[in-house]
Parts: sequence; C-alpha cells; structure tokens
Amino acid sequence: MLTLQIYTFYSRKAIEYLLKAGIVLSERERDMIEVVEYGLDMPEKIGLQLVVYVNTDRYCAKELVLLPHQTCPEHRHPPVNGDRGKEETFRCRWGRVYLYVPGEKTPSPHATPPAERKKFFTVWHEIVLNPGDQYTILPDTLHWFQAGPEGAVISEFSSSSRDASDIYTDPLIRADVPRHL
Ligand code: ZN
Repeated sequence: MLTLQIYTFYSRKAIEYLLKAGIVLSERERDMIEVVEYGLDMPEKIGLQLVVYVNTDRYCAKELVLLPHQTCPEHRHPPVNGDRGKEETFRCRWGRVYLYVPGEKTPSPHATPPAERKKFFTVWHEIVLNPGDQYTILPDTLHWFQAGPEGAVISEFSSSSRDASDIYTDPLIRADVPRHL
C-alpha cells in the first residue's frame, strides 16, 4: 500500500534523480509526481516514479525515474476502443536501463527480477539503454525494465496513456492502485 512515508521517500528521490539528469520541473510538476508500487508492497524492488507533462487522447509525454535496480514489471498496452494500443519510445537521459522485449533470450541478462515474482517476467531479449539511447515499443508488446546500479531517468514519448487498460503478467498487480497522496 502506498503510505505517506513511502510516497514522500520515493517522490523526493525522484526529484533528486531528475535534478541529476538536468531536468527542470515546475513546483506544480514536483507536486504531481506519481509513485507506483503496483500493490506488491516491495517498492524498492518493483516500483516506478513518474511525472506526466501531458496526456491527451492523442499523445503523452512523461519522465520515468527508477532507483538503483528498481523494476517496472512486465506489461503490455492492448488495443482499446478502436485505438491500436499505446506505442512508446523510451529515451535514457541519465543512468542506465535494461529493457526486455520479446525475441531471442539474452544469454546473461543484467537485470534480476525479485525471486518471488520472477516467473511473471517472461520476455528476456535485453536492450541496454545508456544516456542518449532510445528504443520504441510497438503496441500490445510485452516489456519490462530495470535500472542499473545508479538508477535511471527515462523520457517517455507515446500515444495516449490509459493506465487502467494496461495488462500485467503478474496477476497480483493492480493497475489502479493510488499513485499520489
Ligand atoms: Zn509500457
């Protein structure tokens, strides 16, 4: 559950990492930071911080922040109401991110999901994103990602975000958990 203590800790960390990446937020944006713990109660392992700049019915832009080794769990963005589903481009701004998509399994992947949820990480083709690298994930394609040892700041450019329709591989994950307190 997202407690005030957890929200405060992770949102402050997110601001710290965004500053390291040279990304300037307005006071309003700093107050809007979302902390997602996915209902799993292990935010240090599976969790994500983000700030949404814009999300309309046509496009979306946001920053994602991961603490060291923190993981965004496996999910996909399915077609919704005639829309093909969210297509997203991740651009690493700071730190390093290991991104996993369908394809040939990478022999020695860098990321390690928490052992107790590992079976819900099923795609293992690794893409390494360092600052200045970007990768586009097509609609309805499974993906997950984990930060390297320093953490990571990632800009995301995409079609509209409809978080409630995202499909997670782990059945314990709830897409509709509170993200802001
Ligand atoms: Zn996604």
